Amino acid sequence: MIPWIDLQAQYQTIREDIHAALERVLDSGQYVLGDEVRQFEEEFAAYAGAKHGIAVNSGTSALHLALLAAGIGPGDEVITVPNTFVATVAAIQYAGATAVLVDVDADTLTLDPATLEAAITVRTKAILPVHLYGHPADMAPILEIANAHGLVVIEDAAQAHGAEYQGQRIGGIGDYGCFSFYPSKNLGAYGEAGLVTTNDDEAAQRLRMLRDWGQSRKYHHDMAGFNYRMDGFQGAVLGVKLRHLEAWTEARRAHAAHYNELLADSGLVLPVEAENCRHVYYVYVVRSQQRDAMQAHLSKQDIHSGIHYPHPVHLEQGYPGLGVAGDFPVAEAACQQVLSIPMYPELSAEQVETVAAAIKEFQTS
Ligand SMILES: *Cc1c(COP(=O)(O)O)cnc(C)c1O
Repeated sequence: MIPWIDLQAQYQTIREDIHAALERVLDSGQYVLGDEVRQFEEEFAAYAGAKHGIAVNSGTSALHLALLAAGIGPGDEVITVPNTFVATVAAIQYAGATAVLVDVDADTLTLDPATLEAAITVRTKAILPVHLYGHPADMAPILEIANAHGLVVIEDAAQAHGAEYQGQRIGGIGDYGCFSFYPSKNLGAYGEAGLVTTNDDEAAQRLRMLRDWGQSRKYHHDMAGFNYRMDGFQGAVLGVKLRHLEAWTEARRAHAAHYNELLADSGLVLPVEAENCRHVYYVYVVRSQQRDAMQAHLSKQDIHSGIHYPHPVHLEQGYPGLGVAGDFPVAEAACQQVLSIPMYPELSAEQVETVAAAIKEFQTS
């Protein structure tokens, strides 16, 4: 059996350090925020090339608070994409703002800057690109358009820890970088966790208050806030795991290069890495017109795969009013064709070869 992700395999490689870190939290009694979280905030911000890191309890909370810290609320429009995890759109709605969707680039499946001008209105306040699958959105033209219109740029970096755009790490590029440490993400906690990066001192202060009941100090609630604090245990786990992130990312990239080579003549659309970008392969996604049959074929050989994502957000029942079928043809076609094949650092070269052989067997049958 080859799973598409194997969290236990990774845990086995760091077991002792994790147990020691959890014991430090138990002994300190700092179960919410505390020293382990503070240290992780500093280390992750440095890793992401940003001045500040504000740890929160999920990637969704990171997005929600970045929007609030940017002053976005009812009556404001935020531009994002339909082919993302629903949290991207949900966070905009939590802030009371209106999500406006635009289509994506056919090669990278990230926000297509050419669609932006037509979507901007007098109510537009922010652009929220998603670094989908670990590949950066095309930030230079996005920032140029944002600057020309006075818009905030909030990046959904939930899948892009360590990704780079023109030599710069994701996290320090736009106004806010929103990371998720959901267990399956490239840097995963052992529970729920997230973090916002920013270079803006005042925004960082607002974010720290917003996550902790709007408090400037204990029982001084200067603004309405939230209970969005990171657990001490998650900070401790993430601190241990951050030290391995570069090696794990390089392992993902090596597996991707191996897949690229083995599947080059398979007839499938393979992931691209745009020039001057570092793709971190949260998932390795191939595209096929026969996606469902291919997934069934792999499943019969006990090779697991995933679909990220089967429906664009505007066609999900829970998110009405964002568009109708046909509005975003590139994103809609992608949802029919994408398949995420096994990808995690601990995968072996033999497993990559087994997966590729099974795919090629399907392609030539
Ligand atoms: C995982 C994810 C989120 C949400 O993060 P959580 O930590 O699960 O709340 C948001 N956007 C994208 C693109 C994601 O992949």
